Amino acid sequence: MVGGGPAGLFAADQLAQQGASVTVYERKPSAARKFLMAGRGGLNITHSEPLDRLIARYGEAADRLGSIIRAFPPQRLRDYCAELGEETFVGSSGRVFPKSFKASPLLRALLARLAANGVHIETRARFLGFAESGEPLIEDAQGARRAIAADATILALGGASWPRLGADGGWVEILRAKGIEIAPLAPANCGVMVEWPAEFRAAFEGTPLKTIALRHCDERVFGDIVITRTGLEGGPVYALASGLRRAIARDGAATLHIDLRPSGAVEEIAQRLARPREKQSLATFLRKTLRLTKQEIALLRLSGPLPQEAGALAERVKNLPLAIVGTAGLERAISTAGGVRFAALDDDLMLKKLPGVFIAGEMLDFDAPTGGYLLQASFSSAFVAARGAARALGLVGRGAHF
Ligand SMILES: Cc1cc2nc3c(=O)[nH]c(=O)nc-3n(C[C@H](O)[C@H](O)[C@H](O)COP(=O)(O)OP(=O)(O)OC[C@H]3O[C@@H](n4cnc5c(N)ncnc54)[C@H](O)[C@@H]3O)c2cc1C
Repeated sequence: MVGGGPAGLFAADQLAQQGASVTVYERKPSAARKFLMAGRGGLNITHSEPLDRLIARYGEAADRLGSIIRAFPPQRLRDYCAELGEETFVGSSGRVFPKSFKASPLLRALLARLAANGVHIETRARFLGFAESGEPLIEDAQGARRAIAADATILALGGASWPRLGADGGWVEILRAKGIEIAPLAPANCGVMVEWPAEFRAAFEGTPLKTIALRHCDERVFGDIVITRTGLEGGPVYALASGLRRAIARDGAATLHIDLRPSGAVEEIAQRLARPREKQSLATFLRKTLRLTKQEIALLRLSGPLPQEAGALAERVKNLPLAIVGTAGLERAISTAGGVRFAALDDDLMLKKLPGVFIAGEMLDFDAPTGGYLLQASFSSAFVAARGAARALGLVGRGAHF
């Protein structure tokens, strides 16, 4: 097993339960750093929506990922968490979280189980590629290189987002050199960049915009976002980021439209704004009439002086244009689009050109929104790769596990 993220550790657990002798090679001093980071904001492990709808979230990859997710669906992932002592619950949005909200209790329990089942985790051990013999080549903590005589290898090296946590996409060139088709890695579920005026940034960096809607072209997404030093972050932003990135690549810039009060139609907002203002300043009037926050009012002002006429003002509130100059890079993206193309893999997620080598997790070529879909795909693909490896090792049949 190479890569000690959730996909690698889970695959190791599945194989160890079948009686395989498993070693996990992880380049960092400890395993699953990104998983722990994912737990910081509330670990959203999967989603509770009907399976067909869940699978459709994987867009172009839904075809191949469909059977992978069905092999280890959300309910099995929830049962697995419960087995590790972490019950899960469905939040109001349908997203599924462990009761603790965190990744650390799950990880601790999984690591304890791996140790109990004899899985060895060698940290500070970096995968460099394949030796001439075809065996995986590892550089250990002392800098010594050795080929590993493995009967089967699962690569679960992650994508390339947040590279300081371990996954840096260094495997792309290694596999490409072996003739394996890789879709170029690109940031997904990332923030967007806005050139805020200095005073705006100083006053409002870190403040939220709640229950708003964002629109780019025909796509409209509701939710909460945050104003950051460099732009905007949050679920609705991530959902539109790929389209914005494409538009920027094509046209050099893109416009995002913000609806600050999505629950009211423009006419209704205009009616409310047509009430007598008396001696109130326009900002106070907006705050009292529409409950707009300071940052929302400041945002409205970014595209010019506030219109005095109710209809034009309502239009600004409902359809505020914001110039997006870029999307955040891989260093801060939640996930990575692109990866090993499914065409390069058989149904067990084994590389057709490298028999005995399986691929799992974010290395695969899929893109999905936030909402638990990323981890679900990582666990399900790890399950399928582990099942494939177990078959290759002649282990399947020794238990009803797979
Ligand atoms: C801030 C943040 C929040 C997130 N929140 C969520 C969420 O709530 N829900 C959700 O579904 N997803 C979330 N994700 C995404 C989720 O964390 C990933 O989808 C998941 O970690 C992918 O698992 P993986 O095992 O495939 O890869 P990784 O977790 O990236 O693990 C890969 C491992 O391989 C190791 N490795 C890489 N290269 C080498 C090498 N050459 N040699 C040896 N080891 C190597 C790395 O060090 C790493 O430990 C979040 C991501 C981030 C960054």
